[in-house]
Amino acid sequence: MTFAPHRSLSPSTTRRASTEASTEKGEKEDGYLYDRAEWTGPSNMAGSQRVFRYVLLAVVALVVIFFVSASSGVGPGSGYTQKASELLKGQGSVYEGSGSNSVPAGGQDSKAGSGSNANPVDVVKSAVAPLYTAVSSNTHDTTSPNPNNPALSSTPPLGQSAPGHRMNATFVTLARNSDVWEISRSIRQVEDRFNHAYNYDWVFLNDADFDETFVKVTSALTSGRTRYGKIDSEHWGFPSFIDQEKARKVREDMHERKIIYGDSVSYRHMCRYESGFFFRHKLMQEYEWYWRVEPSIELFCDIKYDPFKFMADNKKKYSFVLSLYEYVETIPTLWDSVKGFMKAHPEHIVADNSLAFLSDDGGESYNHCHFWSNFEVGNLDWLRSPAYVDYFNHLDRDGGFFYERWGDAPVHSIAAGLMLKKEEIHFFNDIAYYHVPFTHCPTGEQLRLDNKCHCNPKDNFDWNGYSCTKRFFEVNKMPLPEGYEKEQ
Ligand code: GDP
Ligand code: MN
Repeated sequence: MTFAPHRSLSPSTTRRASTEASTEKGEKEDGYLYDRAEWTGPSNMAGSQRVFRYVLLAVVALVVIFFVSASSGVGPGSGYTQKASELLKGQGSVYEGSGSNSVPAGGQDSKAGSGSNANPVDVVKSAVAPLYTAVSSNTHDTTSPNPNNPALSSTPPLGQSAPGHRMNATFVTLARNSDVWEISRSIRQVEDRFNHAYNYDWVFLNDADFDETFVKVTSALTSGRTRYGKIDSEHWGFPSFIDQEKARKVREDMHERKIIYGDSVSYRHMCRYESGFFFRHKLMQEYEWYWRVEPSIELFCDIKYDPFKFMADNKKKYSFVLSLYEYVETIPTLWDSVKGFMKAHPEHIVADNSLAFLSDDGGESYNHCHFWSNFEVGNLDWLRSPAYVDYFNHLDRDGGFFYERWGDAPVHSIAAGLMLKKEEIHFFNDIAYYHVPFTHCPTGEQLRLDNKCHCNPKDNFDWNGYSCTKRFFEVNKMPLPEGYEKEQ
């Protein structure tokens, strides 16, 4: 099973919360010990012996406490102290050198017991604290950790950069000026759930000039650079070989048959552009990785790692979160065109491909399964490769973007299915996503809790009969995620 890693909170991380929460209590208790030692003044011989015994007892107790807390791996408390102090020490470096926004996250706590000017009382307090941790974690079972504690999450708080280098990657959005408020909602979610800590660029593309409001609003919402590109007219329009009259009749017919977007010219330009051109835009030429974002999407979980880096590290080229069957009326001859391409360019079809995801009869016909392309994280060099460009040109010449209403989702999916190795396509279970009308809510309760997800698992589309995700698991011989039956 090749799930994307989610940096779940380890049990020790959760315990760290109780360590810190109980420090106050420890300090109070510790203060009491000192008060007692000061209060017992000698008044007579027997009294002073008793005092001596008290002092001795106190010293022995302190020595024992020091011993227990300093030895590693003895008892739970000591382990927590080490982890907490490592954490405090570590935080300085974790947030270092990763952008101008970075600040050491250790805060005031990190001073206790670590610096050379540390107050000896503080040193004792920090050594004593773990004993109370164990008590406190038993007696406050139902107290949840403070979610605002940066130590509890590997995602830095808003405004702080994640450590590590950045990939040559960008978000990309095709939009009209009228989409400004819908895309703003998407940007806000992407920033809050992921990009505030990574500050990746965002490229906006439009067939018209972006207006002032669009630029102002979107650039205010993003944490990385924003770039605005106008699409070349030859990438957005009818190619010369298209019979305009034939295309018009198709639109009329589809309108009468009430096929969604059936009568729309601009939707067809959009689908063709996303299928064959966005990755060749001048601004996009600079990048190796893209993440497509559409207006009005939702992200329901924190993304605590860099999906671009995940893709690169794991040799992935294309990814998805939702899959489904395409509306057959929009692509009646798409598979014929694909078969023509396979015949013309057998050299582009890779051996260990995902044909079984696309076809139930060895490639004779298309089963209409596709990855939903309004979410994509993918490799731009693959889309710019001769294989993909030959594929797009072949399909384009057959005219189905205008004589039918081919969508970029089946076009990308078929390309990925035939021209990428199986293992180069990734399903991001942990990226929780909504685009009307479907939701991908991650399977696995612990994963949802760890990532602060707010989707209802009952809304998850993955195991629904109209989803192709189960088939993806089967084709890749991946076991279905644990507990999927309960979340159907
Ligand atoms: P749906 O998801 O298939 O219903 O289609 P959308 O209306 O969401 O369009 C897909 C993407 O293309 C969105 O990012 C839209 O903002 C964008 N888009 C659609 N039509 C146009 C258009 O005519 N011009 C521009 N610039 N963007 C468009
Ligand atoms: Mn959309």
